[in-house]
Amino acid sequence: MNAIPTLKLIDGKATAMRVLAEVREQVQALRQRGVQPGLAVVLVGMDAASQVYVRNKVLRAEEVGIRSLEHRLPSDTTQDELLALIDRLNQDPAVNGILVQLPLPAHIEEHRILQAIDPLKDVDGFHSANVGGLAQGRDVLTPCTPSACMRLLREACGELSGKHAVVVGRSNIVGKPMAALLLQADCTVTVVHSLSRDLPALCRQADILVAAVGKPRLIGADWLKPGAVVIDVGINRITEAGHSRLVGDVDFAAALPQVAAITPVPGGVGPMTIAYLMKNTLIALDLQQQAAHQERTACLSPC
Ligand code: NAD
Repeated sequence: MNAIPTLKLIDGKATAMRVLAEVREQVQALRQRGVQPGLAVVLVGMDAASQVYVRNKVLRAEEVGIRSLEHRLPSDTTQDELLALIDRLNQDPAVNGILVQLPLPAHIEEHRILQAIDPLKDVDGFHSANVGGLAQGRDVLTPCTPSACMRLLREACGELSGKHAVVVGRSNIVGKPMAALLLQADCTVTVVHSLSRDLPALCRQADILVAAVGKPRLIGADWLKPGAVVIDVGINRITEAGHSRLVGDVDFAAALPQVAAITPVPGGVGPMTIAYLMKNTLIALDLQQQAAHQERTACLSPC
């Protein structure tokens, strides 16, 4: 097999290491001032994939010096019990970020839980105050995966302004916030989805293509404009020639000859997402400190 030209490869693993190094440095500076950021990770139930995600998040937090507070609850935890825990975490000054691992068991209403998290501690950026803030272009906590994609795009493309970005997929977790961030970066943005007509033609207009679908190798070379930059968010497990492996939503081997740059799967967006969770924990701490400062200033100023 020919070696992949490294200039074309957007190396998420290497960029994630750099992001984590930046976070570690900021945490060290904070700790010298007597502040240790804290991230609470809440897992309800025994879902195998969620347990792996939570373990990785906790490990990564410890590596960069963020205090991780793990809350593993049984699958029969009631919604009220979970709401009570979130309330305690909201009040706890040692907790700067709260992440509730999804999916939750069916008897718990996901929206209720996400809305209960203090928006200033919402490191996943799923609270409607943060979703609305992102739509308005305000400085808020934004979801980790799309924020991570923006960093990869900035490093791969430099200036994004004026480029035509096509986002494939419109989920609340990836597609929609991705489109909002690209719009904020002055791209022309098209969002396509399962009911869009003539997807290949729409995708061929893209200078930047972000695929967030969850369908193995849906996007072939004939969907791509020559010289496009491709970010493949999809993570799909397939069995090929008797071996289980992960592939993206883009047919990587077919796309490679004609793109300017592309993320591999694995080793592209995946490692960046967790690095951005750590970054978001520091952003959350900063937003909390700003809010506390504003509150103190408001108390001191004469009415
Ligand atoms: P989702 O199922 O919530 O949304 C998928 C979207 O794709 C929907 O908006 C749907 O309209 C669209 N879609 C479905 N079939 C389509 C088709 N044939 N053509 C065009 N659009 C189609 O999924 P999600 O949570 O947004 O995740 C998408 C993928 O990204 C999954 O593979 C998931 O595992 C992966 N993911 C990766 C990371 C990471 O860190 N790398 C993070 C989150 C999600």
